[in-house]
Amino acid sequence: MRDWRERYELVIGIEVHTHLKTASKLFSPAPVRYGEEPNHAVHEIDLALPGVLPVLNEQAVELAIRLGLAIHATVNPVSIFARKNYFYPDLPKGYQISQYEDPIVSKGWLDVDVAVPGGAKGEKAVRRRIGITRAHLEEDAGKSIHDDAIAGGADSAIDLNRAGVPLLEIVSEPDLRTPEEASAYLRTLRGILRAVDVSDADMEKGQLRCDANVSIRRKGETTFGTRTEIKNLNSFTHVEDAILAEALRQIELVEDGKAVVQATMGYDPERKRTHVQRLKENADDYRYFPDPDLIELRIDPARIEAVRASLPELPDQMRARFEAALGLSAYEAGVLTTSRSLAEFFESTASACGSPKSAANWIIRDVLRVLKERDLEIEQTALTPAMLAGLIRLVDGGRTTARSAAEIFAILVTEGGDPERLMVERGLEAVSDTGAIDGFADQVIAAHPDVVAQIRGGDDKPLNFLMGQVMKRSQGKAEPGSVRQTLIRKIRG
Ligand code: ADP
Ligand code: MG
Repeated sequence: MRDWRERYELVIGIEVHTHLKTASKLFSPAPVRYGEEPNHAVHEIDLALPGVLPVLNEQAVELAIRLGLAIHATVNPVSIFARKNYFYPDLPKGYQISQYEDPIVSKGWLDVDVAVPGGAKGEKAVRRRIGITRAHLEEDAGKSIHDDAIAGGADSAIDLNRAGVPLLEIVSEPDLRTPEEASAYLRTLRGILRAVDVSDADMEKGQLRCDANVSIRRKGETTFGTRTEIKNLNSFTHVEDAILAEALRQIELVEDGKAVVQATMGYDPERKRTHVQRLKENADDYRYFPDPDLIELRIDPARIEAVRASLPELPDQMRARFEAALGLSAYEAGVLTTSRSLAEFFESTASACGSPKSAANWIIRDVLRVLKERDLEIEQTALTPAMLAGLIRLVDGGRTTARSAAEIFAILVTEGGDPERLMVERGLEAVSDTGAIDGFADQVIAAHPDVVAQIRGGDDKPLNFLMGQVMKRSQGKAEPGSVRQTLIRKIRG
């Protein structure tokens, strides 16, 4: 099994359900609210009381058009709402209003940058274009609560606050090939949803939910294998881990001479394993038919153009601008545009410190590492672009060293502050005054006569060792440029 990557390839398609940022529900005037007391954001229409009729929310249509244009898709002039029939306690109507054969959006794509190890800089990006089959409007279902405390002693209770909340289901082509590509696709899509203000797309609030379809095939094979669908993955890590676990399960089956059976899978993050929930239902089971309560949705081309004109700069446009105008690499530009808040942080830092390259370096290497370690978003730290820019100016101007800057950076992230004042208060100024460096250099030269002889003989390699010794004696505060010059002057005269 260890070398499975050489023998097998994964095929992955992602379905995303994203809550649209509307004030009210898709077909009722009930408000869309999170954290509301159960059943306090509902309307007769959500309850499916007799005699009610759905009325389409125009804002939801607007947002679907925005997303469609942002993913280079066709916004269809005519789309049709259909009933998807199934029984579930949190679905009072006994059907969900969705779109089936004629969705509002079809045939789009987005470019995904996937970091791969390699190159002297550690990482570079491979850009892949991922097709998007369709995006359609539908309503969310309510929630069943199986918790005694909440259900007041009953086995289960039902909360219909979420019933009828507008969703856009975005279905990708089976174009993804690795778990990392799948999560990079999701991050990119989330960035776009936020950039065009279509959804807050917060996975923790259930505003962005993901199902991953996975199949495997032998390398070189051109037809697809049988897929399974892992439901309800609610973090990027879960998406990657679940896809890997499911692929390994399938490979094991195939290696044992068994067949993969099409099924809906659950994922257990504790054990990092997938399990069969039910054998896959077919579209036939849903008895789709056009909803007789709703007329077809017609969208005027002029309206589409008006929406297009109102779109802000999109992440891929921003990425291209960062590369062309600010001189960033494709990898840097890709990373910095995965979220609007990160991109804005970068732009402010770059313009405040005057060096886009340094700003990109610091954000990618230091800021993102901290965010990942502490599972934070950029706006949840004390660090501001002005602080980071101040620190960058100190380092680039040789006023503090990399090691001292790391210390100042750690304080800025947790407590904030003025980088220059912190540097002075904590005595973290670079020692470039020649007296101090001279002294350390003399000590080091006296302590390592062999090394010095080697350098005199024309071998520059051990110079780094001596520099390290001087840095150490200065407690990391000596400015490396002056240290080097001083040593060379003293050794070679
Ligand atoms: P369903 O309604 O059955 O979930 P959809 O057409 O909505 O079907 O979604 C199917 C998803 O599965 C798409 O994202 C598609 O790219 C993906 N998919 C289709 N065939 C395969 C396959 N052989 N392996 C992996 N993913 C697949
Ligand atoms: Mg589907």
